[in-house]
Amino acid sequence: MLFHVERANIVIIGGGVVGCAVARAVARRWSDVFLVEQMPKLGMGASTRNSGVIHSGIYYPPGSLKAQLCVAGNRMLHEFCAAHDVPHRNCGKLVVAHGSQQEAALEHLAENGRANGVNGLRMVDRATVRAREPHIDATAALEVPSTGIVLAEDLVKALARIAAGQGASILTRARVAKLEERAECVAVTLIEGDASSPETLSEETVEARCVINCAGLYADEIAAMLGNRSYRIYPVRGEYCELVRAKSYLVNNLVYPLPHTDLLTLGMHFTRTIWGTVLVGPTADYISAKNDYENNRLPVEEFVRRAKPLLPELEAADLQLAYSGIRAKLTPPGQTGVADFIITRDAHAPRAIQLIGIESPGLTSCLAIAERVASLAAEVLN
Ligand SMILES: Cc1cc2nc3c(=O)[nH]c(=O)nc-3n(C[C@H](O)[C@H](O)[C@H](O)COP(=O)(O)OP(=O)(O)OC[C@H]3O[C@@H](n4cnc5c(N)ncnc54)[C@H](O)[C@@H]3O)c2cc1C
Repeated sequence: MLFHVERANIVIIGGGVVGCAVARAVARRWSDVFLVEQMPKLGMGASTRNSGVIHSGIYYPPGSLKAQLCVAGNRMLHEFCAAHDVPHRNCGKLVVAHGSQQEAALEHLAENGRANGVNGLRMVDRATVRAREPHIDATAALEVPSTGIVLAEDLVKALARIAAGQGASILTRARVAKLEERAECVAVTLIEGDASSPETLSEETVEARCVINCAGLYADEIAAMLGNRSYRIYPVRGEYCELVRAKSYLVNNLVYPLPHTDLLTLGMHFTRTIWGTVLVGPTADYISAKNDYENNRLPVEEFVRRAKPLLPELEAADLQLAYSGIRAKLTPPGQTGVADFIITRDAHAPRAIQLIGIESPGLTSCLAIAERVASLAAEVLN
């Protein structure tokens, strides 16, 4: 028996960084808040399988939720990490260009960033890039001082610890299997226990006055449980390599190319993590299974081919395969453009709040997303 009440105020589905941030935001205002996560630990989905970058907000169309929540979330996250001892660094980043065409594109990117309210952007020349990143080949770069890096595992833990301290109940190994609208509530049915030993599994149902869907890659399936089949999430795998320790001097900080013209990704970049390791990636490939992290991994030679324009002296021996993560994309294969975050009350099931397509910059935006969700929850509950 995991629930100690028959009726909860709020059930949050999904214990990634967004679900945990939402739990913290709503547990300040309401009692009987439950966060349910199907995995044995929190944050095992995209939330700890990413670059860990606190993005500035330069990339997204002005006025979009991604732009607004990333810029606000960047500031909130830097403050939160400082206040709660979450390892982070406000290290800034360089977006680099080769030649006049790319330099013009960088200027457009800077204008877009300024339109989004990103402060401190400035173009720097080849000599400045060389001084900061002696091994990177670029004719110019856009310096983005508000970019940072965070230890995502510790961020998830801090958010969950604060939410629990405020009275939220956090349940792991608890999979939402069914949702059913009833009068003034949603019935949430959970399967609890270790999925690998079926004899340990049990089922329990609680009525919730408000349900918040933070299920990441599976958010479309959760929405469909309430009859809303209008969303489809396409899993897009991002694979990483890492510079071997002896070569980690090749990159000092965060170095990005211009984003891909199809806007599927920000391009294969270099990220110096909180641990001091240097990630190379992520790639972006549509896959068919939402939990396929490892099949048909790209060889290191392919990373070398793609990263060499930025780092000409990179060789296959300098790299080792690292982890991968899976993006929750709303854009189908073959289509270009940026799909915005969807954060809304469900028109068909008004006691449900849907968060769909929370891909990058979802880690950066988690605290700003949570504030927005708390306002929607107030509409549902008041
Ligand atoms: C390769 C990659 C790189 C990225 N880089 C960055 C970056 O540098 N900066 C940035 O800001 N963002 C980045 N992102 C995006 C960021 O990681 C995500 O936006 C963020 O982690 C989304 O958090 P979430 O809580 O919504 O999802 P998740 O962390 O995936 O959490 C969803 C949770 O829901 C649970 N769940 C699903 N179904 C059920 C169910 N039926 N019952 C119970 N629980 C369920 C899952 O187990 C999971 O734990 C990156 C993402 C990827 C994949």
